[in-house]
Amino acid sequence: MSYYSHLECHQCGEKYDKTIVHSYCKKCTQPLIAKYSLHPGITKEIIRKERSDMWRYADLLPIEDESNIVTLGEGWTPMLELKKTAAASGVSVLYMKEEGLNPTGSFKARGIGMAVSKAQELGIKTFCIPTAGNAGSALAAYVAAIDGEAFIYMPEATPRVFQLDCEVMGARVTKINGTIRDAGLAMASDNANGQWWDITTLKEPFRLEGKKTMGYEIAEQLNWSLPDIIIYPTGGGTGLIGIWKAFQEMLEMGWVTHIPTKMVAVQTVGCNPVVKAFEAGQGFCDLCENPEETIANGLRVPKAFGDRLIMKTIYESKGIALDVSEEEMKTAIYDFGKSEGIFLSPEGAAVYSGFNKLVQSGFIGPKDKVVLINTGSPYKYVENL
Ligand SMILES: *Cc1c(COP(=O)(O)O)cnc(C)c1O
Ligand SMILES: [Zn+2]
Repeated sequence: MSYYSHLECHQCGEKYDKTIVHSYCKKCTQPLIAKYSLHPGITKEIIRKERSDMWRYADLLPIEDESNIVTLGEGWTPMLELKKTAAASGVSVLYMKEEGLNPTGSFKARGIGMAVSKAQELGIKTFCIPTAGNAGSALAAYVAAIDGEAFIYMPEATPRVFQLDCEVMGARVTKINGTIRDAGLAMASDNANGQWWDITTLKEPFRLEGKKTMGYEIAEQLNWSLPDIIIYPTGGGTGLIGIWKAFQEMLEMGWVTHIPTKMVAVQTVGCNPVVKAFEAGQGFCDLCENPEETIANGLRVPKAFGDRLIMKTIYESKGIALDVSEEEMKTAIYDFGKSEGIFLSPEGAAVYSGFNKLVQSGFIGPKDKVVLINTGSPYKYVENL
């Protein structure tokens, strides 16, 4: 039984009825957050131990009739212990959450799988999304599974396999000369009548709930002792915000007694609005006017709709934001591949180079337990390398 109760604007606190379709807060144009009636009486017994996907946590997710769940096997990905890298860098414990093993090759499957399941519950069948690649692949897959329709807008600079993925699964792809932001603008103009359900990052509340399951998994896989530091490659920010949300929910239920975790956002030097906002102590991000091309397509987001939530998560958790160069990511892919036998996605490489920098700067100390998130499979990015 789901404990889902209602939607709430994170900024003005306005409550929204969960039985009606909402996108974002109409008063302040900010994301809506799914709220649950949580209390310490809810025990870990509710975890569906028999499921090895993100639906282990079904009671803490917004689907009310479980026959609406659309699954392709998303979630419950491995936490790989990186003993060699830990020893070489002098940290006590180091893990990598390997999200490249999800359906369609990235953690986008969690968020999109959730949004499409909820859409099924709300009677929606037609979707649109701007994407740097992985969100489009995931949407095409889940929408095919419900016999729906997907309209996908992607920058020209997206590796070709993403378009192929979408077309194989029957989605309609429009290529846009520009960034994901330009793709979003073109899509919004084609969707001026609102005939499609727009599932742009954080413009609807459910993708966040899917990404949140990474937080529950990290906790459960570490036997409910939370890490000191989580390093996340930040584009639209749903994973960063979602993991932190899971930890807050766990605290409300008494599954953990405190949250030691600092949430770290990594971006690229050519598109680093979160890093600039962090350095200026701002609670929001300014638009990155000329985002440079990068091998880490998922990080080329000049302005995230959930920017305020990203900054709030970093500040509340006493985390940090930092950027890495193209050269650093490429070197990281080869160094890490040779030493650990894991071929990182460019976004995962951003995380690993961010980790190295934070060890050097002393932000990460010898006693810290650290989790790196490798958000996607490298195999879709071959032409970037
Ligand atoms: C989308 C994406 C990201 C960024 O995720 P956000 O939740 O938008 O911050 C990082 N890595 C990969 C591989 C992605 O596809
Ligand atoms: Zn509001």
